[in-house]
Amino acid sequence: MLGSVLLAASRSPRVRRLVSGVPVTRSVVDRFVAGDSRADAIAATKRLAESGLDVTLDHLGEETRDAEAAAATARAYGELLRDLAGLGLGTRAEVSVKLSAVGQALGADGDKIALEHAREICVAAKEAGTTVTLDMEDHTTVDSTLEILHALREDFPDTGVAIQSYLFRSESDCRDLSHAGSRVRLVKGAYAEPASVAYQDKREVDAAYVRCLRILMDGAGYPMIGSHDGRLIAIAGLLARDAGRSRDSWEYQMLYGIRADEQRDLAREGFGMRVYVPYGDDWYGYFMRRLAERPANVGFFLRALVSR
Ligand code: FAD
Repeated sequence: MLGSVLLAASRSPRVRRLVSGVPVTRSVVDRFVAGDSRADAIAATKRLAESGLDVTLDHLGEETRDAEAAAATARAYGELLRDLAGLGLGTRAEVSVKLSAVGQALGADGDKIALEHAREICVAAKEAGTTVTLDMEDHTTVDSTLEILHALREDFPDTGVAIQSYLFRSESDCRDLSHAGSRVRLVKGAYAEPASVAYQDKREVDAAYVRCLRILMDGAGYPMIGSHDGRLIAIAGLLARDAGRSRDSWEYQMLYGIRADEQRDLAREGFGMRVYVPYGDDWYGYFMRRLAERPANVGFFLRALVSR
């Protein structure tokens, strides 16, 4: 219940002004976001890489309605990738892109603009010796995102994509995407979706996650297990073993600031472990989804407010 209220609030400009105006918000946001600047993102990447973790960097922003802002986001990724190249980490530090931040939400020409910007980012990533993964946003964008993915993969076959187990369609999408070389990040899904397209019950979302996992692990692609759920993390390990997969043919992924000890433990045990690191000042939507996933985070936020 609180989760759905927070997800609705994540799209409300009024609540956005209210939450962003509270001075203490920033200290709580910092738990989930690496900082405002590119330098902050690079510093976090170095720190995480030194402790054996791989990284995917997200320049925060989404649902951009302004063509110049979309172009600016693509430029920001270009600059970030040039800095990443200097670290020499190769694919250990890649980028994640929300297509709605680079033009997908711009109306009739949105898909075309998003594809052009995503292509520029893929070119910069290739020059930096690394890869791009497309985040998946709300269900109305899935067809467009997959079309753009397929167009990008013609020139950049290592482009990855996130698939959300809560959507009824995702098992079929996983089947289509489980071919050799296909990088797929499996997540539960973070948006408020209607019962006409998505499982509403947590147990059903988890069961669908396992079905998708099985398809991806038995396939020939490169599964990326995006979850903090201990049970699903263990099941992924078992399915990978049963499928005879080597450790370098799949990886775990978790979000910056969430279950950091488990991230380090998995890396120490020799699993590929990549941390999704968001940075930038447009943190509102991302932050509210993290609160919605775990209502205890709201308590954390409120305690910070009263202890001022
Ligand atoms: P849950 O059942 O939600 O959580 C399991 C346990 O993890 C909880 O009990 C808690 O201990 C911990 N936990 C989970 N969330 C939090 C939190 N916010 N704060 C503190 N502890 C927490 N979603 C999309 O829709 N599109 C994407 O492109 C996308 N990309 C992602 C990339 C990565 C690397 C990851 C890890 C997630 C991504 N997500 C994305 C979010 C995902 O869909 C889920 O909303 C999120 O991961 C929570 O689900 P869970 O699998 O961790 O399981």
